[in-house]
Amino acid sequence: MSQSNGADEHFPPDYASGRRAFLAAAEAARAVLGAHPLAERGPDEEELALDTAYLGPEAPARLLVVSSGIHGVEGYAGSALQHQLLTQQLPGLALPVDTGLLLIHALNPWGFAWGRRVNEGNVDLNRNFLRHPEDHVANPGYDELYEAVNPSRLDEESERLHRGRLLAYAQEHGARRLQEVLSSGQYAHPAGVQFGGQREEASNRALRAIAREELRGASRVVWVDVHTGLGPYGVPEVISEYPTDHPAYARLRAWHGEAARSSVAGESVSVALHGVMERGVEAELPADCESTISAAEFGTYDPGRVFLAMRADNWLRHHGEHESEAGREIRDELLEVFRPDDREWRRQILEGGARILREARDGLCA
Ligand SMILES: [Zn+2]
Repeated sequence: MSQSNGADEHFPPDYASGRRAFLAAAEAARAVLGAHPLAERGPDEEELALDTAYLGPEAPARLLVVSSGIHGVEGYAGSALQHQLLTQQLPGLALPVDTGLLLIHALNPWGFAWGRRVNEGNVDLNRNFLRHPEDHVANPGYDELYEAVNPSRLDEESERLHRGRLLAYAQEHGARRLQEVLSSGQYAHPAGVQFGGQREEASNRALRAIAREELRGASRVVWVDVHTGLGPYGVPEVISEYPTDHPAYARLRAWHGEAARSSVAGESVSVALHGVMERGVEAELPADCESTISAAEFGTYDPGRVFLAMRADNWLRHHGEHESEAGREIRDELLEVFRPDDREWRRQILEGGARILREARDGLCA
C-alpha cells in the first residue's frame, strides 16, 4: 500500500481528526480562526464546534464561503474539500486583494462526530431554517405513510408490508411525489426521518451568527455548501434553491453550466425543500448584498438504498441498540451511503469539488 495518496490525505477518518486537520491547515495558511462550540460532546468526549477560518482583507468587497457537514455524516467530503483547498488550492485560486475566503467546518458537528445525518435533536438541520411554528408546512402524504417510513420493527414480515406500502404509493402517485413526501421535510413527527424541528436548533443559531458576524460587510457573497448522497456515483450537481427566473440561478448556470439545477423548478436530483439554510443565511445579510448560495451535491448509491439506510438509522436511534451487532451494521451502512469506502469515489469528489470551487471563484471575481 502506498503511504499517501491524494484522496486519503484529505478525507479524515472521523470528525475529531477532520477538525484537527482543518484547524492545523487553517493555521498554517495564517487564517483567522473562530469557534462556536455546542453543549454536547462527541463519542470520545471531544468538543464539538462549528469552526471558521478566514483569509483575506479586514473588509472584503467579495467573499467566497465554503461550508461542510450540515448533514453530519455527509461532512467527510466537505471536510476533505476544505482541507484540499487550504493545503493545495489557495495559490491557484489567486484571490484578488479585495476578496476574502471563509471556510466553515462542520455545521452539524454532533451528526458528523456520531455518524448521523441529523443533529443531536434528531433534526435535519437543513429543514430547520424557517419561522417556528408559523412556517411549518403540513405533509399529509408523510402522515399517511408514517408507519411505513418509520417502522418500529424491521423484521421480514413487517418490512414486506411497509415496503409494499411505499411501493404502492410510488406506483399510484409517482416516484417523484414519493421523494417529495419523504424528503421535503416534516414538522409533526419528532421521532421520524426528515424532521425539521420545532424551534431553532443551536447549530442554526450558530450558523446565523456566523453569517451576521463573519461576512465582514462583503457586498458580493458566493457560498458553496457541500453535501453527499444524491445523484449518480461520484458526480456533482450544483443545487440551486432559487427558481429559474431568479438572478442567482442565472449566475449559477453561467458559472457551472448544466451542472447547476434548480430544485424548485424540478430539474435537480433534489426535490424542493422546506427550511433550507439558504433562507436562514439570506435573512441575515444586508439588503444590498448580492448572494449566490448553492449546495454542491455528490452522488453515491441509488436513492432507494440511501433512503433505507437513513430509515434504519432512525429505527436504531428510537428502537434499537446502538452497540449491538445490528446497530453496527446499520451505522456502517449509513456511513457507506454518504461516504463510500472507495478511493476512486474520493478522487472524483476532490476533483469535481476543486472544479466547482474554481468556477465559483471565477464567478465571484468576474
Ligand atoms: Zn445533504
